[in-house]
Amino acid sequence: MKCEGCGVEIQTEDPKKPGYIPENVLKEKIENNESVVCQRCFKLKHYNYLLPITINSDFSREIDKILRDFETVLWVVDVIDFEGTFIKEIAEKIKGKNIFLIVNKIDLLPKSTPYEKLKDWLLLRIKEMGINIPGDHVRMVSVKTGMGIEKTKRLLLQTEKEKALVVGVTNVGKSSFLNSVVKGEITVSAYSGTTLKVLKAKVPNTDIQLFDTPGIFTQDRLCDFFDIYTQVKMIPSKKIKIKTFTVNEKNVLFISGLFWLKVLKNGVNNLPPIITVFLPEEISAHRAKEERVNDLLHNREVLFPPYDDNFDFDQIEFERGIVKIDKGNDLALPGAGWLSIKRGPLVAEISKPKGLRYVVRKSMK
Ligand code: GDP
Repeated sequence: MKCEGCGVEIQTEDPKKPGYIPENVLKEKIENNESVVCQRCFKLKHYNYLLPITINSDFSREIDKILRDFETVLWVVDVIDFEGTFIKEIAEKIKGKNIFLIVNKIDLLPKSTPYEKLKDWLLLRIKEMGINIPGDHVRMVSVKTGMGIEKTKRLLLQTEKEKALVVGVTNVGKSSFLNSVVKGEITVSAYSGTTLKVLKAKVPNTDIQLFDTPGIFTQDRLCDFFDIYTQVKMIPSKKIKIKTFTVNEKNVLFISGLFWLKVLKNGVNNLPPIITVFLPEEISAHRAKEERVNDLLHNREVLFPPYDDNFDFDQIEFERGIVKIDKGNDLALPGAGWLSIKRGPLVAEISKPKGLRYVVRKSMK
């Protein structure tokens, strides 16, 4: 049996693996002849219309089919989780289209963020990704505060294209963005020739129609290693916090309860590297001595998420590696935040769940 949301094989054994649904829920669904979606797809607010999908599933081809009908694409990404949402799977699909990059959740950045520099940084990242998005199509917005929304709307009007497709990873604010630019009637229907549902909406006082596609699930972000309820709690609600740590050799810096790095070597002039951590308050950063690692991993008060005692660490396979991060670079953890290094280079051993991606990138500031 396959999940009707993402097409993954349904299973009841392992909550951390794709396709999981609790056995009793599955039984109930079958008995009541209801559609079966895995726990990950059971995202309540989307449940009645667009179910998120995984891009490496059968739906990938369906998205390609839909894309054939569109010249203009609005790609919504999350500035706080740029690495987790500006992903090559999407870039490759929409390459060659008239792309607008909607960089959302700007309100969560620290007050001190220099927006001009941020724009240059975004343009650099776009270039590195190998896609063509004109500078004035890169829109830094906050749906929450309304910043940049009107200007984006005006810009859309100038494209003279009558329809645009909205794409993006889940939780980037795709639905919030759509609701803020369209008012009036929104209809949901299966897109012809595919099994996917799309949401169609008209931008008021224009001839432009926006088509919203299902959100795309990733499998390599920190949030992906937790259940759906924890994932919702991990969505940042306030400006991200900046914390600075001087981390001595053999000291460990934890990010959440699943990732840590151990400084192997001091930086310049044999001084310990200074690590600045940019994280939502929903995710902890904690420095500790190496010998305390095991204690801390099982002490739910200091490291979070997970937020409760029921989390089963045995479900997760951890792996180790070595990273070197030079001054001027960040270590970004998709689905969490990032660390920037002063007095580097930082040479560290890292421990992380197998499959969690990390990215060494040019510093955002
Ligand atoms: P989707 O899954 O991409 O459709 O994302 P949603 O529109 O459901 O938004 C996901 C979460 O991000 C929700 O908790 C929203 O309240 C929040 N969100 C959306 N836009 C913004 C924004 O501009 N700033 C902040 N701080 N939160 C936002």
